[in-house]
Amino acid sequence: MPAIVIGHMNPDTDSVVSSIAASNLYNRRGNDTEACAQGAPAPETVFVLERFGLSAPRVVDNVEGKELFLVDFSDLAQAPAGMDKATVLGIVDHHKLGDITTAQPIEAWIWPVGCTCTVLKNMYDFYNIEIPRDIAGAMMCAILSDTVIFKSPTTTEADKKAVEDLAAVAGVEDYRALAMDMFRVKSAVDGTSAQDLVFRDYKDFDMNGNKIGIGQLEVIDLSMLDNVKDNLKRELENLKKDGRHSVALLLTDIMKEGSELLIVSDDPSLVEKAFGVAPDSEVIWLPGVMSRKKQVVPNFERCFKG
Ligand code: MG
Ligand code: MG
Ligand code: MG
Repeated sequence: MPAIVIGHMNPDTDSVVSSIAASNLYNRRGNDTEACAQGAPAPETVFVLERFGLSAPRVVDNVEGKELFLVDFSDLAQAPAGMDKATVLGIVDHHKLGDITTAQPIEAWIWPVGCTCTVLKNMYDFYNIEIPRDIAGAMMCAILSDTVIFKSPTTTEADKKAVEDLAAVAGVEDYRALAMDMFRVKSAVDGTSAQDLVFRDYKDFDMNGNKIGIGQLEVIDLSMLDNVKDNLKRELENLKKDGRHSVALLLTDIMKEGSELLIVSDDPSLVEKAFGVAPDSEVIWLPGVMSRKKQVVPNFERCFKG
């Protein structure tokens, strides 16, 4: 039975493409693995897979008794059911080290870069294995997505170099134009329910025993969300009722380079403590905030430390 390569819940383009790329790399190193995902691909990811002729990984929601390679996460809160009865063989990631642990030594590549696909690009180089053209193109898109075309403060020189190299392998001449097409697809919210929008890029975190949900929508123009904002807020309230201390949604404007924060919380002063913004502001605009991982999660985590 092949080992499963899998990314986080509510998979984004990086999680999906990383599982495809990592599975390809592991198999060519002599492992037997299958690329999987915890859900169907979001519209942005469908665009990327179609552009490069790749099929979506098989959806898996229970990993009991399975051998696993994890990509793009190492937090139990983002793992599939049955995780406690699975065996982790390896991790490739670019987030803070999570709480998943193992009984045996594992191969872990965890780098502070903008995207898991950047780490994978360097793994291909390290093992001297050529990246297939279709996978290279999708990896390039994942890096441009995760780094918001290099505007996110998570961006490193390694991400830029990886995109240049992967674009050459994939034969993509204007990767910025392709990235804008990708973000236009990501920005389209018409005909999508508020619930689907909240879960499109949503993660739960355990912060000192408190369950905190943080979602993010990245669009090329925030006014596209004007009509759905009230419904989004209602969805956050529903989610909060399900045992969460706080639920937040970042509405990120990738052109204006900042985020509006929608939040419902047990602690009315949380936003002020985390971001220094007055709690009674009607609209909470956080200039320059693009990255959940680097500019939002640590701020909240500081508020919950004893
Ligand atoms: Mg991700
Ligand atoms: Mg990622
Ligand atoms: Mg992201």
